[in-house]
Amino acid sequence: MIPQKHQELALPERLSRLKDLAYNLWWSWRHEARFLFREIDPILWESSNHNPVLLLHRSKDKLIQLSNDQRFLAHYDQVVDAFDHDTSCSDTWFERRFGNDARNRAIAYFSAEFGLHASLPLYSGGLGILAGDHLKSASDLDLPLVGVGFMYPKGYVTQRLGADGWQQNIYHDLNWDYAPILPLCRPDGERVIFDFSLGSWQLKVAVWLVHIGRVSLYLMDTNIDGNSPIDREITTQLYGGDHSMRLRQEIVLGIGGLRLLRFLGIPASFFHANEGHASFLFVELLHEKIAAGLSLAEAKSETAQETLFTTHTPVPAGHDVFESQLLMPFFQDYINELNLTQEEFLELGQSPNEVGWNMTALALKLAGHKNAVSKKHGEVSREMWHKLWPEKALHEVPIDYITNGVHLGFWVQSDLQQLFNWRLGIHWVRAQDNPGFWEGIGNIPDQEIWNAHLRAKDRLLSILEHRLKARWQEGAEPGQILAQGALLDREILTIGFARRFATYKRANLIFHDIERLKRIILNPARPVQLIFAGKAHPADNNGKALIQQIFHLAKDPAFAGHISFVEDYDMQLARYLVQGCDLWLNNPIPPLEACGTSGQKAASNGVPNLSILDGWWEEGFTGTNGWGIEGIGKESSDRNAEEADKIYRALESQIIPLFYDRSSDSIPHGWVKIMKEAIRTAAPRFSAQRMVKEYVEKFYSKAFEQVPVA
Ligand SMILES: *Cc1c(COP(=O)(O)O)cnc(C)c1O
Repeated sequence: MIPQKHQELALPERLSRLKDLAYNLWWSWRHEARFLFREIDPILWESSNHNPVLLLHRSKDKLIQLSNDQRFLAHYDQVVDAFDHDTSCSDTWFERRFGNDARNRAIAYFSAEFGLHASLPLYSGGLGILAGDHLKSASDLDLPLVGVGFMYPKGYVTQRLGADGWQQNIYHDLNWDYAPILPLCRPDGERVIFDFSLGSWQLKVAVWLVHIGRVSLYLMDTNIDGNSPIDREITTQLYGGDHSMRLRQEIVLGIGGLRLLRFLGIPASFFHANEGHASFLFVELLHEKIAAGLSLAEAKSETAQETLFTTHTPVPAGHDVFESQLLMPFFQDYINELNLTQEEFLELGQSPNEVGWNMTALALKLAGHKNAVSKKHGEVSREMWHKLWPEKALHEVPIDYITNGVHLGFWVQSDLQQLFNWRLGIHWVRAQDNPGFWEGIGNIPDQEIWNAHLRAKDRLLSILEHRLKARWQEGAEPGQILAQGALLDREILTIGFARRFATYKRANLIFHDIERLKRIILNPARPVQLIFAGKAHPADNNGKALIQQIFHLAKDPAFAGHISFVEDYDMQLARYLVQGCDLWLNNPIPPLEACGTSGQKAASNGVPNLSILDGWWEEGFTGTNGWGIEGIGKESSDRNAEEADKIYRALESQIIPLFYDRSSDSIPHGWVKIMKEAIRTAAPRFSAQRMVKEYVEKFYSKAFEQVPVA
């Protein structure tokens, strides 16, 4: 089967490989490739939100011109060589570790969302972005891994704030022609359509392919002719619809996804479900084995050996529970095929003392390997799920942990990457998970780190100004423009807070004592400004109220433009923020932040964290690489007041004085020391490369070690 591009891109012959580059997200983590696209048309590059497919479609004349530009051609050849090297060389970590023969097995990675790039909005937050970073690092390591997920033509919601600060949810249809996706087609050019059925329920699934370096991601799409209106809705929108729609989604993802891999002939031999949305995968693995003649016990034991489940949150809303009445109509025949009674079947998804079918409990019971996403989250998860193994001691509950990490090539700003290339050597990319390697950061002159940071800060503020001008032209009111950062200042200590507006993340904690905050940020000698961004779930009015509250404060003249709320947080804006703010703030209610990855992105960019000791920061904070705020613990009646007080004190007594302590060269050397510590300690330990290697060593290697090394 060959994928076929749905629309021909007319490129000059000499630049024909631009097509391969545009349709492989490899470019998104190689700054040389990003620069190449930007060079084609810098303005269109920015206004397209960095979308090379769109860019190439709209730059025909410019490309003809560039095909005779020697300087551009030299850059182009260099990028194409790097691309070919990275996607085909065999001197890779995986090959050295397992040998070439192991390549004929594959790890199948299932996720309801994949955050790969802003131009492909198949994610809502950290969970999806983690999945995207996982695939990118799998490609770097040459791990034979395939992703399985959904194509959502309406993606996730775009955020606009009304003049009253209320979040408006806007759904845009994805423009297929300009997305880096390819319809999977047969040799005769017809689209591959895969028939899915469960009992009497039948539907058709089309398949899209996304290239992420060496890795392929298969996206299922049910919004096609021949399906009923309700089935067409299944994949239109991420986390859209009611419970019954969610159930259909999860059946197609888990059961359909596995059947799709079999249908495509992909030699998947180890299965990883990223969060409970894909847990039906494990049931389908049992189903396959029982159909082949195994008993339930044998099927369970075999399934256990080849499966991993990652749980991502202790927050109850993150765990899907379906009423059994909702389940039964779909599974009548299937239960018979499993040779189970209805009770025995329902037992699979049963969590003690709970009604319904719990997707997390199902996965925990059937997957042989299980992990949480930070050390602390491991403890919290073992406590939370002790009930499934009541006979075991708490520390024996079989949930391990692997702390999340972020893809450095994607998230670290280009000036710093160039500095690393120059000062640490180009091999920093390969050596990135080796802590010893990063010791060299101490030898980089402060001025070079600081200047690289100032350039990222300038890019952030320029991009915000640029967006505000566009909003102003579209007719936004002055108050909206002001609230969104029109008065931000390059010279001022800038604190970033950007994440989903889930209430446990307490976006408004820093406003707990408004007068004190005012004194802090309006101090004329050492002013501070705050940038907020983040979406509330479309149905979450509490989250929207929080946004509105911050919007009003941002508009309030009493804060003199030192507070802003920037619309439409996505991966592109996240990149600018984690690279260009001076300090990253995070203050969730512990222990609800399972890991948190934006702080890892910031730290790897030399942007220190001021955060509650929860999730990754409990492991990452060393005392000299940022600021850690000890949570108060549940027993305190006014934890918000106490925790806010600790944040104010850290700002007043340490952070602000240090930032503004400039020597005659106007560089804050004390601050840069912390920046360097942030990079030195975070980059190796919280890189996705370290994370994926750990997944391989702890879990995936089981699939490869069965292959004799020649
Ligand atoms: C990294 C990232 C997240 C996750 O950040 P947390 O710190 O885990 O909340 C969410 N959304 C976007 C767009 C991101 O880039």
